[in-house]
Amino acid sequence: MPLHLLHRRAFLRRTLLAGTGLLATRPLFAAETSRWALLSDTHIGPKPETLARETNMADHLRASVQAVLGVKSSLAGVFINGDCALKAGLPEEYATFTGLIKPLVEAGLPLHLTLGNHDDRANFWQALKVAAEGARPVQGKHVSVVKSSLANWFLLDSLDVVDKSPGRLEQSQRDWLAKSLDERRDRPALVMVHHNPHLDPTKPNGTLQDTAELFEVLLPRRHVKALFFGHSHKWDLKERDGLHLVNLPAVAYPFAKDQPTGWVDCQLTASGTTLELHAHNEQHPAHGKPVELKWRA
Ligand SMILES: [Zn+2]
Repeated sequence: MPLHLLHRRAFLRRTLLAGTGLLATRPLFAAETSRWALLSDTHIGPKPETLARETNMADHLRASVQAVLGVKSSLAGVFINGDCALKAGLPEEYATFTGLIKPLVEAGLPLHLTLGNHDDRANFWQALKVAAEGARPVQGKHVSVVKSSLANWFLLDSLDVVDKSPGRLEQSQRDWLAKSLDERRDRPALVMVHHNPHLDPTKPNGTLQDTAELFEVLLPRRHVKALFFGHSHKWDLKERDGLHLVNLPAVAYPFAKDQPTGWVDCQLTASGTTLELHAHNEQHPAHGKPVELKWRA
C-alpha cells in the first residue's frame, strides 16, 4: 500500500465515501490530482528550539508545512525525502518531527517519507508507527511504490550507517527496483532517494556509493524520467541521457550561503513536470520561478 501516513479520521471519511459510491470514479488512495509537495532534509532536533548553523529548523519546517497546507486541496501527496532527524534519528528528534508534520496528517494529505543518513530506521519505524518489518518488499529497507495517474513514484532507502555521510542501496534493493520498474512500464517512473548520485569523480564520495549500479538500472529503462534526491542541501537540476536529476533543497539549512531553503511544488503532466521552488527567503533569485522539465522519449 503506497499510503504511509494518513490521519484516521481522513481514512474513515474516505472509506465511508467510497462505501456510498461517491468516490466510485476515484479509487481509494489514488492520487486525485498530479500536484505533489516535495520536501527534503528537515533535520529536526530533539526540541523545537534546537538550532544548527544559526537556524531554527522547526521554524523552517513549520513555515513550509503552512505553505503546503495553503494548497492542500490541489495536492495528491507530500514527500519528505530523508534526514527527517537532525543527527542520529533519536526518539526525541522524531517526537518533535511528528508533532511538526501533524497538521499535514490531520489535513488528510498522504505523506510519504524516506530515510537519510541522519535517520535511524528502527526508531523511525517506531515513531511513525509504520507497517511491520515483515510487510516490506526489501528486508530491512524502507522502500515503496506510490502509484498515481500520471506517474509512479519509487521510493528508495539509501541509509547505510547512521550519522555517517555516505549512502548505499545494496544489491537486494537495486534488484527490487529493477523488477518493480519492469512491472510498471505503463506510465512514467519517478525515483526518489535521499543521497545524491556521485557525479563528479574528482570530489570525495560522501554521496551514493552505488551510483553507477543505480544508473545501470535507471538509464536503459526509458520510462524512468527523473531521479529526485536531497542530501547536498542544494537546489539544482541536471540531466544524464535525458534522465532528469532533481536535487531538492533542504527545508532546514543550506551548506553553501547562496543556496535556498524551502520546498518544491511539483506539477506533473503526461509529458513532464513543472517544478517551482518555494523558498523561505522570497528574495532568493530562484524563488517562485517555475522550471519546466520534459520527459525523455
Ligand atoms: Zn541533510
